[in-house]
This record gives sequence, structure tokens and C-alpha cells, in this order.
Amino acid sequence: MDVFETIDSIRKYRIAIDQKNSAVAFVPTMGNLHKGHLSLVQKAQTMADRVVVSIYVNPTQFGVNEDFADYPRTRDADLALLKSAGVQAVFYPAYDELYPFGTDLFTSVSCPAFDRGLCSTSRPHFFTGVATVVTKLLNIVRPDFAIFGQKDFQQLLVIRRICEELFIEIKIISAPIVRSESGLALSSRNKYLSESELKIAPLIFKTLSQAKHDIETKPGKLQDSNYLASLEEHAKIALTEFGFKIDYFEILDSATLAKPVSSTIPNYHSLIIATACKLGNTRLIDNVLVEVQA
Ligand code: AMP
Repeated sequence: MDVFETIDSIRKYRIAIDQKNSAVAFVPTMGNLHKGHLSLVQKAQTMADRVVVSIYVNPTQFGVNEDFADYPRTRDADLALLKSAGVQAVFYPAYDELYPFGTDLFTSVSCPAFDRGLCSTSRPHFFTGVATVVTKLLNIVRPDFAIFGQKDFQQLLVIRRICEELFIEIKIISAPIVRSESGLALSSRNKYLSESELKIAPLIFKTLSQAKHDIETKPGKLQDSNYLASLEEHAKIALTEFGFKIDYFEILDSATLAKPVSSTIPNYHSLIIATACKLGNTRLIDNVLVEVQA
């Protein structure tokens, strides 16, 4: 497995692959890898002969009071994991490499179509940071496919949209959420949870699943204009009682992230139930998709 730390070196690697006519699948990460990341690598391996993984904790997607400095950085363990997973190349740029002019007045990519609501409300800087760094990485690695987790659903829509709007000809593939046996979505931030918090955290998925079950078993109720709002309210009360501080719990159209209006819900409708909530100081996000046959 090759590890490239400079843009120049990974570009040379990419040019050499071009000459072999091989396809490249790319998995961008912030490291501290777990089975969720590895599932993206496995999906990438089914799509292309070569898999490139990047590891970069992107400063511009963290707010001033967020955990950029504390974000777990586990280089040796990550590289060992990727090597045993059969990855061909890792792009591991230094902090400055991706922001040669610094991060004060950096040129950015924004996606107003999806950078609103949900995580945007409490993290207004976040998606511009993500869209910018992903655009840089896609330009540098020039993959045929790039794989992103459904876990960060709003991020996935932002990236799909920027590729469409900026004519970046890379297929964006989504991969399902990997969970622990308890149902907790795997996340590098789960490391921040105490033992007692780890027992409560799976209740997020339980609450999402309950709302999904309610919609699936009584799709007729979607005609009631208050139904989704009442499910959201019910879930928020439950999560608050479990000890979470709710950032949002919303049921939205999964293609547009708009609030579904009951009268316009067609026969077939795909919804996303998404939540972000804090347990102690740790912010957790999760979601489930619901395919409704009304
Ligand atoms: P991160 O390192 O948190 O930036 O995540 C890198 C990629 O892994 C993103 O596309 C995430 O959506 C994806 N990812 C993170 N956690 C999971 C998970 N539990 N299951 C599947 N994909 C995940």
C-alpha cells in the first residue's frame, strides 16, 4: 500500500493509473477508522480495481468551539487497517497541503440548495467546509467513483449537488449505515461517550425505527397534515426523557429535504427521518430512510 503525503505525489500516481486504464474508487475520510469506513472501502473494491482512501481532518468544517483539536487522530492504526483491507493507496496530506493560502480567506464551494436546515442550523460553517475540501480532493484524486456514507445524509446530497452543478464527472455512490449490535451508528465521535452514555446512545436508532415503523404500518395517516409533526414531537419528547438534548428530529422528503406536504404526497414517497442530538458534550447524528406506499 502506497501512502502519499503531497498533492504532487498522488497526482503522479493517478497519471500512472491512467496509463493502465484502471478505474479508481475513492473513499474520503477524517481517519480514526471503524467498520463503517471499512464498509465504504469494501463497496469501493466492488466498483474499481484501485481504491484510494484519503485521511484528512478538515479544519474548515469545524466551528471555533468544536472538536477540531481533539478529534481522534490514529494514523498508525488507520494505515494498518487499510493495508489489511487491501487498499492500494492512501492520501494523507498535511494540514497546509490542502489550504496553501491558509484558511482565513480560502476560496470555498457552497451549496445553498442543501445547506439549510438540519445540521446547517447549528453548524452554519460545516457544509461549505465539507464541499470545499471534497471538491479539492476530487480534483486531486480524479476518481471514477467516490463513496460516501448515508450516515451523513445531508452531506451526501450536498456532494451530489456540487458535482452536478460544477460538472464534476464522478459517480457519487452512497453506502448504508453500519451499526453496532446495539443499533448505535458507528462514529469516530462514539469514543467520547462514557460507559453510561454508551448504554443510552442506541435509543436514538430505536426512536428513529419507531417513527419509521409508525409510518410504514399506517401510511394512510400521511394524509393527515399534522401526522408527521406529531411523530416528530413524540420522538423529541422520548429522546429528551432518555437524556438527550435535541438539535433536530425531522421527517423530510429524502430527495429535496423539504417538509412533505400531506396533500402533495404522491402514491410513492421516500422520506428521511433524521436527527442530531447531544449526549453530554457529544453530538450524535443518525437517520433512517422510509419508502412509503401511500
Ligand atoms: P468521517 O471520517 O466521519 O468524515 O466519515 C467518512 C465517511 O464514512 C463519510 O462518507 C461517512 O458518511 C462514512 N461513515 C461514517 N460512519 C459511518 C457508518 N457508521 N456507516 C457507514 N458509513 C459511515
